[in-house]
Formats: sequence, C-alpha cells, structure tokens
Amino acid sequence: MIRVLSGGTLVDGTGRAPIPDAAVVIDGERIVAAGPRAAVSWAPGAEVIDARGRTIIPGLIDAHDHLAFHGYALASRWGLDEPMSTAHMRTAGVLAETVAMGYTTVRDAGGLDAGFRLAVEQGLIPGPRLVLALQIISPTGGIGDRVSPSGHDCCGAADPLLPDCVANGTDAVRDVVRTMVRAGADVIKTATTGGASSRQGHGPRDPAFSLEEMQALVGESHALGRRVMCHALGGPGMRTALLAGVDSIEHGCYLDEDPDLMARMADRGVFLVPTLTVYVYHSESQAPHVRARARALHEHHINTVRRALELGVPIAAGTDAGGHGHPKNALELGYLVDAGLTTMQALRAGTQWAAQCLGLGDELGTIEAGRLADIVVVDGNPLDDMKVLLEAERIQLVLKGGATCADRRTAA
Ligand SMILES: [Zn+2]
Repeated sequence: MIRVLSGGTLVDGTGRAPIPDAAVVIDGERIVAAGPRAAVSWAPGAEVIDARGRTIIPGLIDAHDHLAFHGYALASRWGLDEPMSTAHMRTAGVLAETVAMGYTTVRDAGGLDAGFRLAVEQGLIPGPRLVLALQIISPTGGIGDRVSPSGHDCCGAADPLLPDCVANGTDAVRDVVRTMVRAGADVIKTATTGGASSRQGHGPRDPAFSLEEMQALVGESHALGRRVMCHALGGPGMRTALLAGVDSIEHGCYLDEDPDLMARMADRGVFLVPTLTVYVYHSESQAPHVRARARALHEHHINTVRRALELGVPIAAGTDAGGHGHPKNALELGYLVDAGLTTMQALRAGTQWAAQCLGLGDELGTIEAGRLADIVVVDGNPLDDMKVLLEAERIQLVLKGGATCADRRTAA
C-alpha cells in the first residue's frame, strides 16, 4: 500500500533546511520519495494523509534508556517490591507510551530482556524498535556489581535472560560478552568509572577495569559484530575506555578535563551520549552523595558538550530514563539546546546522529528514499520550540516501518 504524507513542513534529519509544503511517499515499510510536494509524484489510489500546518520529522531515537527501570530505590531496582509479572506489565506500558510519543527506536542500556524485543516484533505489545544491552558489564565493585549500601549482594531471582554481568580478568570478560550475545544482546554495555548514583566510594572519576580487560571486551564484542557503549564520567577509566576502542561514551561529564581524549573521539568518530536528563533528576536526589555528585559535575558536563560541538565529536541524544523521564524522553533534546546545540543539531542528535551511534544510520534517522518509514507528524515545529515534543496531543501520527503506532489526528 502506498501512503503519502502531504502538505506538511519536512525536517528530514539530514540538516537540510526545512521544506515547506512537502510530500513523503511510503510504500510498505519504506520511504520511496520525499521532497517538495510539487516535485514528488505517486500512483493514483494512494492513501493521502493531510499533514498541512504540521511538521514531519524522522522517528525519534533515544540512544540510552532503561525501559524496565521503574525507580532508583533499592527495592525497585532489585525487583523486590512487586511480582516480576507486574513489573513486566509496567514495562510494557512504558514501551507503549514511549512509541506513542514519537520514539520509534530505543537503545536500552540495561535491564530489558530480549523477550520484550520479540514481543514488539511479533506485535504482542506496541513499542519502539529495540537495541538491547541486557546488562552492564563491570568488574567486582563496578556499577554492574549490585551490592546494597549495607554490603549485601542482590537477593533478586537469577534471570537467564539477564545474565550475570560481573567479570574479572580477560578470559572472564570475553565469556560474559559471549554470554550476553547468547542471551540476545544487540550491543555491549560496560562501565569503566563510577557514576552519580553508584555506591559511595565508587564515584565519577573512580576507575573500573584494566586496559587489558577492556581490550578483551571490545575485541570480543567487535568480533561478534556488537558495538560497545561505555558508561564513563571521567578520570583514568575514561582513558582506558577510549584507548580500548569503545564506540560511544555514555555520560562523559568530565571529558572537558581531558582535551586529548576529546580530540581522539573526534578523530575516530566515537560518539558522546551526554544523557543530561538523568543529572537533572539526580541533582534533586534523596541520597545526599548522589545529589552532591550531580551538582558538582554540571558545569563540566555543559563545558564538555560545548567542546564536543567545537571539535566535531558526534553527539547522540540519550536520556538514561528509568524511574524518571518516561515518556518525556524529548526532554533531552531541550537540555541539549540549553547546553549550546541549535534546535536543528538537537533534533539530529535525536534522529540521524542517534541512528549512526547505534550503527543503523543506513536504515533509520532520516526521511530519505530507501530508509525505513519511521516518521512523526507533529503539531508545531520543534525547530522553533523543542517543548512541542513533550505534549502527547501534539504527537499526532507515529509511523514505525510504515505501520501506524499512534494516531491522534481526530482526537481534537
Ligand atoms: Zn544508564
């Protein structure tokens, strides 16, 4: 079936100037033409969708999310406060809300098992395309090592779809990477530093993993065709990650302290996924050490984003949502604008650049002939005001691979 989005303003994600009175022609799951309406033709009998007065943008992509996290409190993080089935239903609700807000692709950075990807692919539940990490690989004491403030190990049930993710030594690291891939990981997530919310004593500049361990992790991941996304805030662990050849730095708050590493990222096209959203959340945390860390890093984080822009380090939008942020994942795009991106750059960070960060730049992220038809029709123009992407009633039509995921056109 041919469908045509007609008359709207097209912001195609490539950075090209907006095209007023545009048409986008979709055949099945793919875009076959896009441009000024007068220059695009389609066969008679096509379904024409009136998009006049609205903006047509690529499906949004969150490059760092935790769709299965529903709170930072220990009982919630460890799955102690409700039955697993109830938590899964809650997660299914988040997937549905997220795609309905125009997020047609999400890279989950830990916590979501491969059964959710199957459920979405089979049409059992609505949701975004999923690129899954399953778990965060770290050494003993790293952020993937779940130990309570009292020193107890996690007491939650073992789940073979979310394999144990603590590894020490190169052989063990390779084994865990292989185990993640066996359990369905599309991307390998690791961490070479602490973070804002990690345990006391493992802060943003405290390292995890040796260079040899990280080289084993990256080598094995790449050999199995998986990119590596690495949680790193700053300090020596950041250097370890970049020397080992990770594909993206997640958070990167203190990168401004290492200009040579930022230059290296620009040279090699290593993505920065700043995840500004989670630090806004953490800066009001109930936990004093989390709040203090989030506030202390803020100025560095903003400097890092500015410097990344100047140097040409590619930036992708990710929220680190989970227990906050859902389904207003587009908050990140506004925060990126506050940090110095133009609205066009921020929108690309959440579409074309995010797709490239995920290794899916040939399929997703822009509205061009040949791409999958992941498209959002917005009432309002995000290039004038990013906040329009936070209002559900303005996200009027969401297509994923040409299929309708949300249609609010007649709601008003
Ligand atoms: Zn995260």
